[in-house]
Amino acid sequence: MRGVYLLLGLIVGALAVILIVMAMPGASGLMTAPTPVPTATPTPKPTRSPIPVDKKYTSVHDTKVKVYFKEYDEIREMYLEEYMIGVVAGEVPASYRLEAVKAQAVAARTYTMYTIRHGGCSKHPGADVCTDSSCCQSFETEEERIENWPEEYLYYYSVICKAVMDTAGEVMLYDGKPIDAMYHASSGGWTEDSDHVYKYAYPYLKSVESPYEEDKYQDMQKTFSREEFVKKINAAYPEANLQAETLAEDIAILSTYPSGRVESMRLGGTEAAGTKVKKTLGLLSALFTFEVTDTEVIFHTKGYGHGVGMSQSGANGMAKQGSTYREILSHYYTGIQYGIIGQY
Ligand SMILES: [Zn+2]
Repeated sequence: MRGVYLLLGLIVGALAVILIVMAMPGASGLMTAPTPVPTATPTPKPTRSPIPVDKKYTSVHDTKVKVYFKEYDEIREMYLEEYMIGVVAGEVPASYRLEAVKAQAVAARTYTMYTIRHGGCSKHPGADVCTDSSCCQSFETEEERIENWPEEYLYYYSVICKAVMDTAGEVMLYDGKPIDAMYHASSGGWTEDSDHVYKYAYPYLKSVESPYEEDKYQDMQKTFSREEFVKKINAAYPEANLQAETLAEDIAILSTYPSGRVESMRLGGTEAAGTKVKKTLGLLSALFTFEVTDTEVIFHTKGYGHGVGMSQSGANGMAKQGSTYREILSHYYTGIQYGIIGQY
């Protein structure tokens, strides 16, 4: 009898299981159509760990500079690469070729790091650099950029940012230190040895040919009346004692450097360096000749600026010829190496 009860119990149990299964949602059979249950998308577990931070690499982007803004008469601290965007925008036409703009970014960054290493801006205590182009480097604010590039703002801004970011942290070195990376608008054909213009002779600032300049400064002239010329020169050099009537016999170029720039000039009773004459008369370049007519003194100049280091116009010319920014820099700065901020 016990076997019969056990069998009955098993049958009842099995029927109960079948009924329960048929009543479950989604079970097929005679029950009502199942309601689809929305399945939740599982949140994927993170499979990558954060990129480990290289301290040396971040020092590129963490480097800050104290900039004296002459227009606001205050020192503002900003990221070096942010400062670079304003400097590059202020120093070269954004219409220049990208490789030339990149060369400018590296030159301006190197000049900045050099200045910081040597005590900062000489005119503004407490500042690393200033926005006065006659002291440190030009700087164009965002408002000025929008004003200067009304049609092409986004494009030009992208060129400047790309040039700065593609070379972020990159500087030129000599003997393992950032160089005094001087640059100028246009050389007129040859750049100049640094000691022919400034006090110091640097092995990396030597005169080199700059063959691809196409700017308007290759042939400029500035005219003075005889009287005006005599007045300017006698004021700056009283011992010159020039007279308007005898000017043609009293002034002469005495010597020139191999670049063609005037080394010294006779001005009546005295001699003056070509760079000083350039400054006194407001000439664009010390690469000049002159002629005296019955009424005037006419100066013909080639190039624009001091002529030392990179010619910006020549850099653009080289970029058009297919040179990379490093080829451009290595041409204008003799014997340099490259390094990254924090890694030299
Ligand atoms: Zn300064």
